[in-house]
Amino acid sequence: MKLTHLPSEFQKALPILQKIRSAGYEAYFVGGSVRDALLNRPIHDVDIATSSYPEETKRIFKRTVDIGIEHGTVLVLEEDGEYEITTFRTEDVYVDYRRPSQVNFVRSLDEDLKRRDFTVNAFALAPDGEIVDHFGGLDDLEHKILRAVGEPKERFNEDALRILRGLRFLASLDFELEEETFSAMKSHAHLLEKISIERSFIELDKLLVAPFWKKGLRAFVDCEAYRYLPQLENQAPALLAMTEEMADTAFDSSTQAWAALLLEMKCQNPKGFLKAWKTSSQFQKEVTAIMAIYELRLGQSADRRLLYHYGKDLVCLAERLREAKGLAVDYESIDTIYKALPIYDKHEIVVNGADLIKQLGLTPGPSLGEHLSAVELAIVDGDLANDRSAILEFVRRRQDE
Ligand code: ATP
Ligand code: MG
Repeated sequence: MKLTHLPSEFQKALPILQKIRSAGYEAYFVGGSVRDALLNRPIHDVDIATSSYPEETKRIFKRTVDIGIEHGTVLVLEEDGEYEITTFRTEDVYVDYRRPSQVNFVRSLDEDLKRRDFTVNAFALAPDGEIVDHFGGLDDLEHKILRAVGEPKERFNEDALRILRGLRFLASLDFELEEETFSAMKSHAHLLEKISIERSFIELDKLLVAPFWKKGLRAFVDCEAYRYLPQLENQAPALLAMTEEMADTAFDSSTQAWAALLLEMKCQNPKGFLKAWKTSSQFQKEVTAIMAIYELRLGQSADRRLLYHYGKDLVCLAERLREAKGLAVDYESIDTIYKALPIYDKHEIVVNGADLIKQLGLTPGPSLGEHLSAVELAIVDGDLANDRSAILEFVRRRQDE
């Protein structure tokens, strides 16, 4: 089969392929971008594979960076962009189920395609548009089937991360799992315990924010992968409830998706959960904030204090969760209240602690902090103007109480 029209991302990179070819080597586009081009989906990161060894690739181009040279990847810097070029390779026995013990560079495209995970990820695209398809990937693409390359059990035994990758491809592509691939996922799911949490997080996260996340999550439960991942071992009911109770819409952000999951689990220690998944503290902060807003909103409408404290973006993310769960929403009030807030941060208050000490003879300590908090809330509530004399008067009155 031949692609008659190469998407612009490929066209732009064609001179790179041509240059490698004129130096006497093979060069192809490979990986997810070829799959996405065939599906008429938007393309991101164009991957180039070549028979030239890294040192040889570096000799072909003026400016290169060794970004992953031990894996065979060289970054080529051209005026119009950067291109990752990876030498054809095979991967030897996987000792610890995590990383291939050794990467071998090879001259054969066929060998390189064989080590790839799924048939629809194992295409190569030549500069003239010809598609190399050794594993029936075109057929699978047409029937929307996700099938492991080669013997599924062997492939998941080599690298169990492929189980989660497969689930997230279901969720992003809206494909179905081929039967043997599914049963191998199930029989090898326990090997996920050996995969690094960071790598598992990336895949589960991609699954959750994908448009067909429900499909991915159901398969995640069906193949029992959840049983071998941190803090999810008993969560099949919550995972399924999520797919049943929420609207089909995609999540707006990954923090929102994880907040939805933790709310569904009625998780008592979200920070602990997210720590177990080794997420960043910024991520933990955002997820727990969305959860807190969601829970507060169950008993009250969005008000000035909520918007001041959390900001509009997080309140809207929580409101969208309400929407997905069929609860009443009020984006208009959120917008109006937020726009009308007298201040957005306490540093905007025209009087600070030092002023209170100087003007009113207060001393540093807890009571000063309490006065300042009271000022802040009164301003946010609209009961006090952000004005020097009004604030000093307000504190003076509090002192007398
Ligand atoms: P995306 O569109 O999300 O980038 P992708 O298919 O490009 O999806 P990548 O993680 O970017 O996925 O990997 C690029 C290619 O490398 C894949 O298409 C696949 O051929 C191969 N690949 C990546 N990870 C693995 C793996 N664990 N086992 C086998 N092949 C893999
Ligand atoms: Mg990719």
